[in-house]
Amino acid sequence: MTGTRGTRVLVLNSGSSSLKYQLLDMRDSSRLAAGLVERIGEQTSRLKHTPLASGGDVREAEGPIADHDAALKAVAQELSRDGLGLDSPDLAAIGHRVVHGGMFFTEPTVVDDAVIAEIERLIPVAPLHNPANLTGIRTARALRPDLPQVAVFDTAFHTTMPESAARYAIDPRIADRHRIRRYGFHGTSHAYVSRATAELLGRAPEDVNVIVLHLGNGASASAVRGGRCVDTSMGLTPLEGLVMGTRSGDLDPAVIFHLARVGGMSMDEIDTLLNKRSGLFGLCGDNDMREIRRRIDGGDEAASLAFDIYVHRLKKYIGAYYAVLGTVDAVAFTAGVGENAAPVREAAVAGLEGLGLAVDPERNAVRSDRPRIVSPDAARVAVAVVPTDEELEIATQTYALVGKNT
Ligand code: AMP
Repeated sequence: MTGTRGTRVLVLNSGSSSLKYQLLDMRDSSRLAAGLVERIGEQTSRLKHTPLASGGDVREAEGPIADHDAALKAVAQELSRDGLGLDSPDLAAIGHRVVHGGMFFTEPTVVDDAVIAEIERLIPVAPLHNPANLTGIRTARALRPDLPQVAVFDTAFHTTMPESAARYAIDPRIADRHRIRRYGFHGTSHAYVSRATAELLGRAPEDVNVIVLHLGNGASASAVRGGRCVDTSMGLTPLEGLVMGTRSGDLDPAVIFHLARVGGMSMDEIDTLLNKRSGLFGLCGDNDMREIRRRIDGGDEAASLAFDIYVHRLKKYIGAYYAVLGTVDAVAFTAGVGENAAPVREAAVAGLEGLGLAVDPERNAVRSDRPRIVSPDAARVAVAVVPTDEELEIATQTYALVGKNT
């Protein structure tokens, strides 16, 4: 090392057959490049690269990309074409999204062999995500073994939950043996949005209580007291809680016994039903809120009922987290639905004037990618729309950690 540290951070989000990336310059948090490799391992893999620093054209390429190693090398090549190669001394670190950090990882962590082993040990509670995240880490380590790799965990923000919120009411010996507890997910987004909401209110995060509603294809709510999460709606897995695009969210666990014993379904079939074929999609055949709103406007009853079930559950969680927090300064909507679907925001707080919650219809109808308040000035609780930025949060946490260690 020369003693001068790089200022760029590459953020990698590695899925089972995809690799999403962003390169950021942490001097001003600007984005230098972003992209996605899809269908890794198939003949029709696709790479889409957006060179943001140069303002150049989006570049797309199709053709077989055998594995994550080949995918990252293809990404590195694209970045080199923009003069942003991964061999550059300007690159300070690589930040990896890791879905499940269990109870062990409460903070972003520099990756070493022991960290990899611990993420591996968590595979039984995150069988879909952690193996893919590990592949990304291993691949990046092989490419730049000298560079700090940082794991940023989706669960970490929720590790501050008290035991009363984190435990299920089952025999603790059984729960502990199988690591069954409520971990929560989307933590990077809840952390970013709760902080950005405090900033929007012009107050310190420590002084503010916020209910964050992350409503994307996956959806979760959290209760954040003074910057620390005290409850969240997802549990052992991302299946619990709100109605989502394709997941059922909360249901009586006996539904599962009933489907097995009376419905004759296998555990795998039930798993697929509840994770992939339920939620908005299961209720009306569409999981995209835009399409659902179009169908409602056309008088479609199934779409209308799906919307009502979605909003009813959301309202219940707002009420529950209001009670958990006692006093609430803001309710923040984020992610695809939360940021864009004004009717969802309006319906979710309708009738909650007694709790100090309301939206101003004109403010709520404005489209913007900036954080904004959509409640009337006189409202006791601010209703805010705060676009999430998980990549920036991962990059910020990664850079801060690497800065501490050099
Ligand atoms: P995310 O997982 O945060 O990318 O959110 C994806 C979801 O956001 C989609 O499935 C849609 O339901 C929703 N969405 C995206 N854009 C809009 C929009 N303009 N209006 C309503 N919903 C939207």
